Amino acid sequence: MAWALSSKKIKVLLLESGPAYDPFKDYLLDKPQWEQTDFPYKANSKGKYSFGQMQELDKRFADFETFNHVLGKLFKTGIRATGTYGHVKGVGGTTLMYSGEAHRMNPEAMKMKSRFQAAADWPFDYKELEPYYCIAEQIVGVAGPTADDAKRYRSKPYPLPPHRPSYGSSKIQAGCRKLGMNFVSNSLGILSAPYDGRPPCNYCGGCNRGCQRTDKGSVDRTFIPKAVATGYCTLRAGCQVTGIEAGDNDRIKSVSYVDSKGNIQQVSGRIVVVSCGAIETPRLLLASSGRHAPDGLCNESGMVGKNFMETLYAITSALHDERLASYRAASADIICWDYNNPDAIKDVIGGCRFSAATAEAGFAGPLNYALRVAKGWGKGHKEQMRQTFGNVISVAAIGEFLPNTKSYIDLDPAAKDASGIPIARINTYNTEMDLMRLRFMMETSRQILFSSGAGKIIEQISTYDSFTSSHVFGTCRMGKDSRDSVLNAYCQSHRWKNLFVVDASVFPSSGGGESPSLTIEALAIRTAGYIAENKST
Ligand SMILES: Cc1cc2nc3c(=O)[nH]c(=O)nc-3n(C[C@H](O)[C@H](O)[C@H](O)COP(=O)(O)OP(=O)(O)OC[C@H]3O[C@@H](n4cnc5c(N)ncnc54)[C@H](O)[C@@H]3O)c2cc1C
Ligand code: SF4
Repeated sequence: MAWALSSKKIKVLLLESGPAYDPFKDYLLDKPQWEQTDFPYKANSKGKYSFGQMQELDKRFADFETFNHVLGKLFKTGIRATGTYGHVKGVGGTTLMYSGEAHRMNPEAMKMKSRFQAAADWPFDYKELEPYYCIAEQIVGVAGPTADDAKRYRSKPYPLPPHRPSYGSSKIQAGCRKLGMNFVSNSLGILSAPYDGRPPCNYCGGCNRGCQRTDKGSVDRTFIPKAVATGYCTLRAGCQVTGIEAGDNDRIKSVSYVDSKGNIQQVSGRIVVVSCGAIETPRLLLASSGRHAPDGLCNESGMVGKNFMETLYAITSALHDERLASYRAASADIICWDYNNPDAIKDVIGGCRFSAATAEAGFAGPLNYALRVAKGWGKGHKEQMRQTFGNVISVAAIGEFLPNTKSYIDLDPAAKDASGIPIARINTYNTEMDLMRLRFMMETSRQILFSSGAGKIIEQISTYDSFTSSHVFGTCRMGKDSRDSVLNAYCQSHRWKNLFVVDASVFPSSGGGESPSLTIEALAIRTAGYIAENKST
Protein backbone atom coordinates (compact mmCIF):
# COMPACT_ATOMS: atom_id res chain seq x y z
CA MET A 1 0.00 0.00 0.00
CA ALA A 2 2.81 2.39 0.95
CA TRP A 3 4.63 1.66 -2.30
CA ALA A 4 1.53 1.89 -4.50
CA LEU A 5 0.45 5.23 -2.98
CA SER A 6 3.89 6.86 -2.82
CA SER A 7 4.66 5.90 -6.41
CA LYS A 8 1.52 7.87 -7.32
CA LYS A 9 3.04 10.85 -5.48
CA ILE A 10 0.72 10.55 -2.50
CA LYS A 11 2.50 11.27 0.80
CA VAL A 12 2.55 8.31 3.18
CA LEU A 13 3.56 8.06 6.84
CA LEU A 14 4.27 4.41 7.67
CA LEU A 15 4.05 3.62 11.40
CA GLU A 16 5.48 0.22 12.29
CA SER A 17 5.47 -0.99 15.87
CA GLY A 18 8.46 -3.31 15.54
CA PRO A 19 12.13 -2.65 14.75
CA ALA A 20 13.88 -2.65 11.37
CA TYR A 21 15.99 -5.74 10.62
CA ASP A 22 19.39 -5.68 8.96
CA PRO A 23 19.73 -9.13 7.30
CA PHE A 24 23.54 -8.93 7.35
CA LYS A 25 23.75 -8.21 11.09
CA ASP A 26 20.56 -9.58 12.60
CA TYR A 27 20.11 -12.93 10.87
CA LEU A 28 22.22 -15.84 12.08
CA LEU A 29 22.59 -18.20 9.13
CA ASP A 30 26.34 -17.52 8.88
CA LYS A 31 26.91 -17.77 12.64
CA PRO A 32 27.82 -20.94 14.60
CA GLN A 33 24.59 -20.73 16.63
CA TRP A 34 22.37 -20.50 13.53
CA GLU A 35 20.37 -23.61 14.38
CA GLN A 36 19.84 -22.93 18.08
CA THR A 37 17.07 -20.47 17.40
CA ASP A 38 14.27 -20.21 14.87
CA PHE A 39 13.68 -16.66 13.69
CA PRO A 40 16.10 -14.36 15.62
CA TYR A 41 13.54 -12.08 17.24
CA LYS A 42 14.82 -8.66 18.33
CA ALA A 43 13.40 -6.78 21.32
CA ASN A 44 9.76 -5.74 20.83
CA SER A 45 9.26 -7.87 17.74
CA LYS A 46 6.75 -10.33 19.21
CA GLY A 47 3.21 -9.36 20.12
CA LYS A 48 1.32 -10.49 23.20
CA TYR A 49 -1.96 -12.38 22.89
CA SER A 50 -4.03 -14.76 24.96
CA PHE A 51 -6.46 -17.60 24.29
CA GLY A 52 -10.08 -18.28 25.20
CA GLN A 53 -11.19 -21.74 26.29
CA MET A 54 -9.56 -24.32 23.99
CA GLN A 55 -11.62 -27.23 22.71
CA GLU A 56 -11.70 -30.75 24.08
CA LEU A 57 -10.06 -33.13 21.63
CA ASP A 58 -12.39 -35.41 19.70
CA LYS A 59 -10.97 -38.91 20.29
CA ARG A 60 -12.23 -40.11 16.89
CA PHE A 61 -9.35 -38.15 15.40
CA ALA A 62 -6.74 -39.31 17.92
CA ASP A 63 -4.36 -40.55 15.23
CA PHE A 64 -3.75 -36.88 14.31
CA GLU A 65 -1.84 -36.32 17.57
CA THR A 66 1.44 -34.46 17.40
CA PHE A 67 4.41 -36.69 18.19
CA ASN A 68 8.03 -37.24 17.38
CA HIS A 69 10.25 -40.26 17.40
CA VAL A 70 12.39 -39.03 20.33
CA LEU A 71 9.87 -37.40 22.68
CA GLY A 72 6.72 -39.35 21.83
CA LYS A 73 3.36 -37.62 22.17
CA LEU A 74 3.80 -33.89 22.77
CA PHE A 75 0.36 -32.84 24.09
CA LYS A 76 -1.24 -35.02 26.73
CA THR A 77 -4.04 -33.05 28.39
CA GLY A 78 -6.94 -33.98 26.09
CA ILE A 79 -7.51 -30.24 25.52
CA ARG A 80 -6.19 -28.51 22.41
CA ALA A 81 -2.94 -26.70 23.31
CA THR A 82 -2.43 -22.97 22.91
CA GLY A 83 0.51 -23.08 20.52
CA THR A 84 1.78 -20.09 18.60
CA TYR A 85 0.57 -17.35 16.29
CA GLY A 86 3.62 -17.21 13.99
CA HIS A 87 4.37 -13.58 13.33
CA VAL A 88 7.07 -10.91 13.43
CA LYS A 89 6.60 -7.31 14.48
CA GLY A 90 9.11 -5.47 12.37
CA VAL A 91 9.56 -3.51 9.17
CA GLY A 92 8.27 -6.04 6.60
CA GLY A 93 6.02 -7.82 9.13
CA THR A 94 5.69 -11.57 9.07
CA THR A 95 7.15 -11.79 5.56
CA LEU A 96 10.53 -11.52 7.33
CA MET A 97 10.06 -15.14 8.42
CA TYR A 98 7.80 -16.40 5.63
CA SER A 99 8.73 -19.20 3.25
CA GLY A 100 8.34 -17.08 0.14
CA GLU A 101 5.40 -18.94 -1.40
CA ALA A 102 3.69 -16.50 -3.79
CA HIS A 103 0.23 -17.84 -4.59
CA ARG A 104 -2.85 -16.61 -6.35
CA MET A 105 -6.28 -17.55 -4.99
CA ASN A 106 -8.18 -20.37 -6.65
CA PRO A 107 -11.07 -18.49 -8.37
CA GLU A 108 -13.50 -21.18 -7.12
CA ALA A 109 -12.44 -20.63 -3.50
CA MET A 110 -13.57 -16.98 -3.82
CA LYS A 111 -17.21 -18.09 -4.24
CA MET A 112 -17.65 -20.29 -1.20
CA LYS A 113 -21.09 -18.99 -0.24
CA SER A 114 -22.81 -19.07 -3.61
CA ARG A 115 -21.24 -22.35 -4.72
CA PHE A 116 -20.89 -24.30 -1.46
CA GLN A 117 -23.04 -22.50 1.18
CA ALA A 118 -19.97 -21.94 3.37
CA ALA A 119 -17.92 -18.89 4.52
CA ALA A 120 -18.66 -15.86 2.28
CA ASP A 121 -18.15 -14.79 -1.33
CA TRP A 122 -15.44 -12.33 -2.21
CA PRO A 123 -17.13 -9.12 -3.44
CA PHE A 124 -15.35 -9.41 -6.83
CA ASP A 125 -13.95 -12.26 -8.84
CA TYR A 126 -10.46 -13.46 -9.66
CA LYS A 127 -10.39 -11.59 -12.99
CA GLU A 128 -10.64 -8.30 -11.11
CA LEU A 129 -7.54 -9.11 -9.04
CA GLU A 130 -5.47 -10.62 -11.85
CA PRO A 131 -3.69 -7.46 -13.12
CA TYR A 132 -2.68 -6.58 -9.55
CA TYR A 133 -1.23 -10.05 -9.01
CA CYS A 134 0.99 -9.38 -12.05
CA ILE A 135 2.27 -6.11 -10.53
CA ALA A 136 2.99 -7.74 -7.16
CA GLU A 137 4.82 -10.64 -8.85
CA GLN A 138 7.06 -8.18 -10.71
CA ILE A 139 8.00 -6.28 -7.56
CA VAL A 140 8.64 -9.43 -5.49
CA GLY A 141 10.45 -11.25 -8.34
CA VAL A 142 8.37 -14.43 -8.34
CA ALA A 143 9.87 -17.57 -9.89
CA GLY A 144 7.22 -19.93 -11.20
CA PRO A 145 6.45 -22.64 -13.72
CA THR A 146 5.63 -21.88 -17.35
CA ALA A 147 2.70 -24.30 -17.36
CA ASP A 148 0.86 -23.09 -14.27
CA ASP A 149 -2.30 -24.41 -12.71
CA ALA A 150 -4.91 -24.02 -15.47
CA LYS A 151 -7.53 -22.71 -13.00
CA ARG A 152 -5.56 -19.57 -12.28
CA TYR A 153 -5.64 -17.61 -15.53
CA ARG A 154 -2.62 -15.32 -15.91
CA SER A 155 -2.12 -12.50 -18.40
CA LYS A 156 1.69 -12.34 -17.95
CA PRO A 157 4.33 -15.00 -17.38
CA TYR A 158 6.18 -15.12 -14.08
CA PRO A 159 9.12 -12.71 -14.07
CA LEU A 160 11.58 -15.56 -13.36
CA PRO A 161 11.91 -19.23 -14.35
CA PRO A 162 10.99 -21.85 -11.73
CA HIS A 163 13.43 -23.35 -9.24
CA ARG A 164 14.60 -26.87 -9.99
CA PRO A 165 13.31 -29.24 -7.29
CA SER A 166 15.93 -30.31 -4.77
CA TYR A 167 17.02 -33.96 -4.79
CA GLY A 168 14.83 -34.72 -1.74
CA SER A 169 11.83 -33.04 -3.38
CA SER A 170 12.40 -34.96 -6.61
CA LYS A 171 11.85 -38.17 -4.57
CA ILE A 172 8.52 -36.79 -3.34
CA GLN A 173 7.61 -35.81 -6.88
CA ALA A 174 8.35 -39.32 -8.16
CA GLY A 175 6.36 -40.88 -5.29
CA CYS A 176 3.36 -38.72 -6.11
CA ARG A 177 3.45 -39.68 -9.74
CA LYS A 178 2.99 -43.29 -8.64
CA LEU A 179 -0.16 -42.20 -6.78
CA GLY A 180 -1.42 -40.33 -9.85
CA MET A 181 -0.78 -36.97 -8.17
CA ASN A 182 0.94 -34.06 -9.84
CA PHE A 183 3.61 -32.07 -7.98
CA VAL A 184 4.81 -28.97 -9.88
CA SER A 185 7.43 -26.30 -9.15
CA ASN A 186 5.99 -23.95 -6.56
CA SER A 187 5.66 -20.26 -7.39
CA LEU A 188 8.08 -18.62 -4.98
CA GLY A 189 9.06 -15.08 -4.11
CA ILE A 190 12.62 -16.43 -4.01
CA LEU A 191 14.93 -15.46 -6.83
CA SER A 192 15.95 -18.15 -9.33
CA ALA A 193 18.25 -15.65 -11.11
CA PRO A 194 19.70 -12.21 -10.27
CA TYR A 195 16.85 -9.70 -10.18
CA ASP A 196 16.43 -6.06 -9.25
CA GLY A 197 19.90 -5.84 -7.64
CA ARG A 198 19.43 -9.00 -5.54
CA PRO A 199 21.32 -12.31 -5.98
CA PRO A 200 19.65 -15.68 -6.60
CA CYS A 201 18.94 -18.24 -3.85
CA ASN A 202 21.69 -20.57 -2.60
CA TYR A 203 19.21 -23.22 -1.33
CA CYS A 204 20.42 -23.05 2.27
CA GLY A 205 16.91 -23.82 3.56
CA GLY A 206 16.96 -21.01 6.13
CA CYS A 207 13.99 -18.98 4.81
CA ASN A 208 12.06 -19.09 8.11
CA ARG A 209 15.16 -17.88 9.99
CA GLY A 210 15.46 -14.70 7.88
CA CYS A 211 17.15 -14.66 4.49
CA GLN A 212 20.63 -13.18 4.64
CA ARG A 213 21.18 -13.15 0.89
CA THR A 214 18.09 -10.92 0.45
CA ASP A 215 16.85 -13.00 -2.47
CA LYS A 216 13.65 -13.81 -0.58
CA GLY A 217 11.05 -11.19 -1.53
CA SER A 218 10.07 -10.11 1.96
CA VAL A 219 8.39 -6.71 2.08
CA ASP A 220 11.44 -5.01 3.67
CA ARG A 221 13.55 -5.94 0.60
CA THR A 222 10.94 -5.13 -2.05
CA PHE A 223 8.00 -2.75 -1.54
CA ILE A 224 9.26 -0.70 1.42
CA PRO A 225 12.67 0.43 0.05
CA LYS A 226 10.96 1.26 -3.24
CA ALA A 227 8.32 3.29 -1.38
CA VAL A 228 10.96 5.21 0.62
CA ALA A 229 12.99 5.82 -2.57
CA THR A 230 10.05 7.73 -4.13
CA GLY A 231 10.62 10.49 -1.56
CA TYR A 232 6.90 10.38 -0.70
CA CYS A 233 7.02 7.73 2.05
CA THR A 234 8.34 8.33 5.57
CA LEU A 235 8.97 5.17 7.59
CA ARG A 236 8.93 5.28 11.38
CA ALA A 237 9.87 2.01 13.06
CA GLY A 238 9.26 1.32 16.75
CA CYS A 239 5.98 3.28 16.69
CA GLN A 240 3.07 1.39 18.23
CA VAL A 241 -0.32 2.77 17.22
CA THR A 242 -2.49 2.79 20.32
CA GLY A 243 -5.75 4.27 19.05
CA ILE A 244 -7.62 5.66 16.08
CA GLU A 245 -9.82 8.61 16.91
CA ALA A 246 -13.16 9.07 15.13
CA GLY A 247 -14.53 12.54 14.42
CA ASP A 248 -17.73 14.02 13.05
CA ASN A 249 -19.21 13.30 9.63
CA ASP A 250 -18.15 9.65 9.71
CA ARG A 251 -14.49 10.53 9.25
CA ILE A 252 -11.40 9.46 11.16
CA LYS A 253 -9.74 12.44 12.79
CA SER A 254 -6.36 11.22 14.01
CA VAL A 255 -4.15 8.33 15.04
CA SER A 256 -2.28 8.11 18.36
CA TYR A 257 0.95 6.22 18.79
CA VAL A 258 3.84 5.73 21.17
CA ASP A 259 7.07 6.56 19.35
CA SER A 260 10.40 4.75 19.63
CA LYS A 261 11.43 6.99 22.55
CA GLY A 262 8.23 6.28 24.47
CA ASN A 263 6.58 9.64 23.73
CA ILE A 264 2.86 9.77 22.96
CA GLN A 265 2.21 11.31 19.53
CA GLN A 266 -0.84 12.11 17.44
CA VAL A 267 -1.01 12.50 13.65
CA SER A 268 -3.75 13.10 11.14
CA GLY A 269 -4.02 12.51 7.44
CA ARG A 270 -6.63 12.36 4.67
CA ILE A 271 -6.74 8.56 4.81
CA VAL A 272 -5.94 6.01 7.52
CA VAL A 273 -4.97 2.48 6.46
CA VAL A 274 -4.82 -0.24 9.11
CA SER A 275 -2.50 -3.17 8.25
CA CYS A 276 -1.68 -4.87 11.54
CA GLY A 277 -2.55 -8.47 10.55
CA ALA A 278 -5.73 -10.45 11.21
CA ILE A 279 -5.25 -10.55 14.99
CA GLU A 280 -3.87 -7.07 15.73
CA THR A 281 -6.14 -5.18 13.31
CA PRO A 282 -9.42 -6.18 15.04
CA ARG A 283 -7.70 -5.56 18.38
CA LEU A 284 -6.80 -1.99 17.39
CA LEU A 285 -10.28 -1.30 15.96
CA LEU A 286 -12.09 -2.74 18.99
CA ALA A 287 -9.79 -0.87 21.37
CA SER A 288 -10.50 2.39 19.49
CA SER A 289 -14.05 2.67 20.78
CA GLY A 290 -15.34 6.09 21.76
CA ARG A 291 -18.30 8.45 21.63
CA HIS A 292 -18.78 7.97 17.88
CA ALA A 293 -18.17 4.23 17.93
CA PRO A 294 -19.13 2.79 21.33
CA ASP A 295 -18.64 -0.85 20.21
CA GLY A 296 -15.34 -0.27 18.49
CA LEU A 297 -14.42 1.32 15.18
CA CYS A 298 -15.98 -0.12 12.00
CA ASN A 299 -18.01 -2.44 14.20
CA GLU A 300 -21.49 -1.20 13.27
CA SER A 301 -22.38 -4.72 12.07
CA GLY A 302 -20.71 -6.37 15.09
CA MET A 303 -18.41 -8.19 12.68
CA VAL A 304 -14.98 -6.86 13.73
CA GLY A 305 -13.04 -9.86 15.05
CA LYS A 306 -15.66 -12.37 13.89
CA ASN A 307 -15.05 -15.07 11.23
CA PHE A 308 -11.50 -15.68 12.42
CA MET A 309 -9.87 -18.35 10.28
CA GLU A 310 -6.71 -20.09 11.50
CA THR A 311 -4.35 -22.37 9.56
CA LEU A 312 -5.54 -25.94 9.16
CA TYR A 313 -2.17 -27.56 8.94
CA ALA A 314 -0.26 -30.83 9.16
CA ILE A 315 3.36 -31.59 8.54
CA THR A 316 4.53 -35.18 8.38
CA SER A 317 8.16 -36.27 8.23
CA ALA A 318 9.64 -39.68 7.49
CA LEU A 319 13.02 -41.33 7.19
CA HIS A 320 14.24 -42.39 3.78
CA ASP A 321 16.86 -45.11 3.37
CA GLU A 322 18.81 -43.13 0.83
CA ARG A 323 21.24 -40.35 1.76
CA LEU A 324 19.32 -37.42 0.23
CA ALA A 325 21.05 -34.38 1.74
CA SER A 326 17.46 -33.18 2.08
CA TYR A 327 18.60 -30.09 4.04
CA ARG A 328 19.69 -28.57 0.74
CA ALA A 329 16.50 -26.90 -0.55
CA ALA A 330 14.53 -23.70 -0.56
CA SER A 331 11.31 -23.95 1.44
CA ALA A 332 8.40 -25.61 -0.32
CA ASP A 333 10.01 -25.92 -3.75
CA ILE A 334 7.28 -28.20 -5.14
CA ILE A 335 3.51 -28.16 -4.65
CA CYS A 336 0.45 -30.24 -5.52
CA TRP A 337 -2.78 -28.39 -6.32
CA ASP A 338 -4.79 -31.52 -7.25
CA TYR A 339 -7.11 -31.21 -4.22
CA ASN A 340 -7.25 -27.43 -4.02
CA ASN A 341 -10.77 -26.96 -5.43
CA PRO A 342 -13.42 -26.52 -2.70
CA ASP A 343 -15.16 -29.72 -3.89
CA ALA A 344 -12.04 -31.79 -4.58
CA ILE A 345 -12.13 -33.89 -1.39
CA LYS A 346 -14.93 -36.45 -1.20
CA ASP A 347 -17.70 -35.55 1.30
CA VAL A 348 -15.83 -32.42 2.43
CA ILE A 349 -16.27 -28.74 1.60
CA GLY A 350 -13.00 -26.87 1.13
CA GLY A 351 -9.79 -27.94 -0.57
CA CYS A 352 -6.16 -28.28 0.39
CA ARG A 353 -2.69 -28.40 -1.07
CA PHE A 354 0.45 -30.46 -0.41
CA SER A 355 4.05 -29.23 -0.57
CA ALA A 356 7.56 -30.45 0.09
CA ALA A 357 8.43 -29.06 3.51
CA THR A 358 11.70 -30.48 4.83
CA ALA A 359 13.17 -27.00 5.39
CA GLU A 360 9.91 -25.68 6.89
CA ALA A 361 9.83 -28.66 9.27
CA GLY A 362 13.24 -27.48 10.49
CA PHE A 363 15.28 -30.52 9.37
CA ALA A 364 17.94 -28.16 8.14
CA GLY A 365 20.90 -29.05 10.36
CA PRO A 366 22.35 -31.58 12.82
CA LEU A 367 20.87 -30.06 15.96
CA ASN A 368 17.33 -30.80 14.84
CA TYR A 369 18.30 -34.35 13.97
CA ALA A 370 19.93 -34.79 17.38
CA LEU A 371 16.77 -33.55 19.13
CA ARG A 372 14.06 -35.05 16.95
CA VAL A 373 15.43 -38.03 15.01
CA ALA A 374 18.39 -39.71 16.72
CA LYS A 375 17.60 -41.13 20.17
CA GLY A 376 19.87 -41.76 23.16
CA TRP A 377 23.39 -40.74 24.13
CA GLY A 378 27.04 -41.40 23.31
CA LYS A 379 28.13 -43.94 20.76
CA GLY A 380 24.62 -45.15 19.91
CA HIS A 381 23.42 -41.60 19.34
CA LYS A 382 26.39 -40.80 17.12
CA GLU A 383 25.73 -43.93 15.09
CA GLN A 384 22.09 -42.93 14.60
CA MET A 385 23.16 -39.42 13.60
CA ARG A 386 25.47 -40.87 10.94
CA GLN A 387 22.72 -43.10 9.63
CA THR A 388 19.93 -40.52 9.52
CA PHE A 389 21.40 -37.08 8.86
CA GLY A 390 19.98 -35.67 5.62
CA ASN A 391 17.55 -38.59 5.14
CA VAL A 392 14.33 -37.01 6.45
CA ILE A 393 11.73 -35.77 3.97
CA SER A 394 8.62 -33.85 4.99
CA VAL A 395 5.26 -33.09 3.39
CA ALA A 396 3.10 -30.18 4.52
CA ALA A 397 -0.64 -30.02 3.93
CA ILE A 398 -2.62 -26.79 4.38
CA GLY A 399 -6.37 -26.72 3.98
CA GLU A 400 -9.36 -24.40 3.92
CA PHE A 401 -10.58 -23.29 7.35
CA LEU A 402 -14.29 -22.44 7.37
CA PRO A 403 -15.45 -19.62 9.66
CA ASN A 404 -17.65 -20.66 12.60
CA THR A 405 -19.27 -18.83 15.50
CA LYS A 406 -16.74 -20.15 18.05
CA SER A 407 -13.76 -18.69 16.17
CA TYR A 408 -13.23 -14.98 16.75
CA ILE A 409 -10.82 -12.37 18.13
CA ASP A 410 -11.89 -10.17 21.02
CA LEU A 411 -10.17 -8.05 23.67
CA ASP A 412 -8.78 -9.87 26.67
CA PRO A 413 -10.87 -8.68 29.66
CA ALA A 414 -7.85 -8.64 32.00
CA ALA A 415 -4.46 -8.53 30.22
CA LYS A 416 -3.09 -5.26 28.82
CA ASP A 417 0.09 -4.25 27.01
CA ALA A 418 2.62 -1.66 28.22
CA SER A 419 0.43 1.17 26.87
CA GLY A 420 -2.59 -0.07 28.82
CA ILE A 421 -4.42 -1.37 25.73
CA PRO A 422 -6.13 -4.79 26.16
CA ILE A 423 -4.30 -7.53 24.28
CA ALA A 424 -6.06 -9.66 21.65
CA ARG A 425 -7.68 -12.89 22.77
CA ILE A 426 -7.80 -15.73 20.26
CA ASN A 427 -10.91 -17.89 20.40
CA THR A 428 -10.75 -20.71 17.90
CA TYR A 429 -12.47 -24.00 17.18
CA ASN A 430 -12.04 -26.82 14.66
CA THR A 431 -15.42 -28.06 13.44
CA GLU A 432 -16.10 -31.62 12.33
CA MET A 433 -15.81 -30.50 8.68
CA ASP A 434 -12.33 -29.07 9.36
CA LEU A 435 -11.28 -32.29 11.10
CA MET A 436 -12.56 -34.39 8.20
CA ARG A 437 -10.50 -32.26 5.82
CA LEU A 438 -7.52 -32.66 8.14
CA ARG A 439 -8.00 -36.44 8.04
CA PHE A 440 -7.73 -36.43 4.25
CA MET A 441 -4.67 -34.15 4.42
CA MET A 442 -2.84 -36.32 6.93
CA GLU A 443 -3.68 -39.69 5.38
CA THR A 444 -2.63 -38.44 1.95
CA SER A 445 0.62 -36.96 3.32
CA ARG A 446 1.53 -40.37 4.75
CA GLN A 447 0.72 -42.08 1.45
CA ILE A 448 2.91 -39.57 -0.40
CA LEU A 449 5.85 -40.23 1.93
CA PHE A 450 5.56 -44.02 1.71
CA SER A 451 5.18 -43.87 -2.05
CA SER A 452 8.35 -41.71 -2.17
CA GLY A 453 10.37 -44.51 -0.61
CA ALA A 454 10.33 -43.30 3.00
CA GLY A 455 9.81 -45.89 5.73
CA LYS A 456 9.24 -44.80 9.30
CA ILE A 457 7.18 -41.72 10.17
CA ILE A 458 9.55 -39.78 12.40
CA GLU A 459 7.34 -36.85 13.31
CA GLN A 460 3.81 -35.61 12.88
CA ILE A 461 2.71 -32.07 13.75
CA SER A 462 -0.92 -31.16 13.34
CA THR A 463 -3.25 -28.37 14.33
CA TYR A 464 -5.66 -30.99 15.70
CA ASP A 465 -4.09 -30.82 19.17
CA SER A 466 -2.30 -27.45 19.06
CA PHE A 467 -3.09 -24.05 17.58
CA THR A 468 -0.13 -23.29 15.31
CA SER A 469 -1.07 -20.62 12.84
CA SER A 470 1.06 -18.92 10.26
CA HIS A 471 -1.86 -17.86 8.03
CA VAL A 472 -4.69 -16.04 9.82
CA PHE A 473 -7.63 -14.36 8.12
CA GLY A 474 -11.14 -13.02 8.09
CA THR A 475 -11.59 -10.72 11.09
CA CYS A 476 -12.55 -7.62 9.07
CA ARG A 477 -14.29 -9.29 6.18
CA MET A 478 -14.94 -7.48 2.87
CA GLY A 479 -18.42 -7.81 1.45
CA LYS A 480 -21.21 -6.18 -0.50
CA ASP A 481 -23.63 -5.99 2.45
CA SER A 482 -22.73 -3.73 5.39
CA ARG A 483 -24.84 -5.96 7.67
CA ASP A 484 -22.50 -8.92 7.44
CA SER A 485 -19.15 -7.39 6.55
CA VAL A 486 -16.81 -4.68 7.83
CA LEU A 487 -15.45 -3.33 4.54
CA ASN A 488 -16.61 -2.81 0.99
CA ALA A 489 -14.94 -4.30 -2.08
CA TYR A 490 -12.16 -1.69 -1.91
CA CYS A 491 -11.28 -2.59 1.69
CA GLN A 492 -12.92 0.66 2.79
CA SER A 493 -14.97 0.83 5.98
CA HIS A 494 -18.68 0.85 5.16
CA ARG A 495 -19.14 3.81 7.50
CA TRP A 496 -15.77 5.58 7.96
CA LYS A 497 -14.99 6.56 4.40
CA ASN A 498 -11.39 7.56 5.07
CA LEU A 499 -10.53 4.31 6.86
CA PHE A 500 -9.19 1.28 4.96
CA VAL A 501 -7.93 -2.11 6.12
CA VAL A 502 -5.34 -3.89 4.01
CA ASP A 503 -4.08 -7.20 5.37
CA ALA A 504 -5.28 -10.79 5.70
CA SER A 505 -8.19 -9.76 7.93
CA VAL A 506 -10.18 -8.70 4.86
CA PHE A 507 -10.37 -12.23 3.34
CA PRO A 508 -13.97 -13.55 3.23
CA SER A 509 -12.61 -17.12 2.88
CA SER A 510 -9.18 -18.60 3.43
CA GLY A 511 -8.69 -20.54 0.20
CA GLY A 512 -7.68 -24.18 0.08
CA GLY A 513 -4.12 -23.74 1.32
CA GLU A 514 -3.03 -20.84 -0.88
CA SER A 515 -0.43 -18.77 0.94
CA PRO A 516 -1.87 -15.30 1.45
CA SER A 517 0.90 -12.69 1.02
CA LEU A 518 0.68 -12.20 -2.75
CA THR A 519 -3.10 -11.75 -2.47
CA ILE A 520 -2.65 -9.20 0.35
CA GLU A 521 -0.19 -7.32 -1.86
CA ALA A 522 -2.48 -7.45 -4.91
CA LEU A 523 -5.42 -6.19 -2.81
CA ALA A 524 -3.29 -3.35 -1.42
CA ILE A 525 -2.22 -2.21 -4.90
CA ARG A 526 -5.83 -2.32 -6.10
CA THR A 527 -7.05 -0.33 -3.08
CA ALA A 528 -4.27 2.24 -3.53
CA GLY A 529 -5.50 2.81 -7.10
CA TYR A 530 -9.01 3.40 -5.76
CA ILE A 531 -7.73 5.90 -3.15
CA ALA A 532 -5.68 7.76 -5.76
CA GLU A 533 -8.66 8.05 -8.11
CA ASN A 534 -11.22 8.99 -5.44
CA LYS A 535 -9.93 12.25 -4.05
CA SER A 536 -13.18 12.63 -2.04
CA THR A 537 -12.44 9.65 0.26
C1 LIG B 1 6.68 -19.46 9.41
C2 LIG B 1 5.76 -18.75 8.44
C3 LIG B 1 5.83 -19.04 7.08
C4 LIG B 1 4.99 -18.39 6.19
N1 LIG B 1 5.11 -18.65 4.86
C5 LIG B 1 4.36 -17.98 3.97
C6 LIG B 1 4.56 -18.13 2.57
O1 LIG B 1 5.42 -18.89 2.15
N2 LIG B 1 3.81 -17.39 1.72
C7 LIG B 1 2.84 -16.53 2.18
O2 LIG B 1 2.17 -15.92 1.36
N3 LIG B 1 2.63 -16.38 3.49
C8 LIG B 1 3.37 -17.06 4.39
N4 LIG B 1 3.21 -16.83 5.72
C9 LIG B 1 2.13 -15.94 6.15
C10 LIG B 1 2.46 -14.50 5.88
O3 LIG B 1 3.72 -14.15 6.40
C11 LIG B 1 1.37 -13.65 6.48
O4 LIG B 1 0.13 -14.13 6.04
C12 LIG B 1 1.49 -12.20 6.08
O5 LIG B 1 2.73 -11.68 6.42
C13 LIG B 1 0.36 -11.45 6.74
O6 LIG B 1 0.46 -10.11 6.38
P1 LIG B 1 -0.31 -9.03 7.21
O7 LIG B 1 -0.02 -7.74 6.58
O8 LIG B 1 -1.72 -9.47 7.37
O9 LIG B 1 0.34 -9.11 8.69
P2 LIG B 1 1.86 -9.02 9.17
O10 LIG B 1 2.79 -9.44 8.09
O11 LIG B 1 1.94 -9.74 10.46
O12 LIG B 1 2.12 -7.47 9.36
C14 LIG B 1 1.50 -6.72 10.36
C15 LIG B 1 2.44 -5.60 10.75
O13 LIG B 1 1.71 -4.66 11.52
C16 LIG B 1 2.51 -4.27 12.62
N5 LIG B 1 1.62 -3.83 13.70
C17 LIG B 1 0.73 -4.59 14.39
N6 LIG B 1 0.07 -3.83 15.27
C18 LIG B 1 0.55 -2.58 15.16
C19 LIG B 1 0.27 -1.35 15.80
N7 LIG B 1 -0.67 -1.25 16.75
N8 LIG B 1 0.97 -0.24 15.42
C20 LIG B 1 1.91 -0.30 14.45
N9 LIG B 1 2.22 -1.45 13.80
C21 LIG B 1 1.54 -2.56 14.14
C22 LIG B 1 3.29 -5.52 12.98
O14 LIG B 1 4.42 -5.17 13.73
C23 LIG B 1 3.60 -6.08 11.61
O15 LIG B 1 4.81 -5.59 11.09
C24 LIG B 1 4.04 -17.45 6.65
C25 LIG B 1 3.97 -17.15 8.02
C26 LIG B 1 4.83 -17.79 8.91
C27 LIG B 1 4.72 -17.47 10.37
S1 SF4 C 1 16.94 -20.90 0.78
FE1 SF4 C 1 17.25 -19.12 -0.53
S2 SF4 C 1 15.57 -17.71 0.05
FE2 SF4 C 1 15.76 -19.22 1.68
S3 SF4 C 1 17.16 -18.25 3.16
FE3 SF4 C 1 18.43 -19.55 1.81
S4 SF4 C 1 19.12 -18.11 0.23
FE4 SF4 C 1 17.38 -17.14 1.24
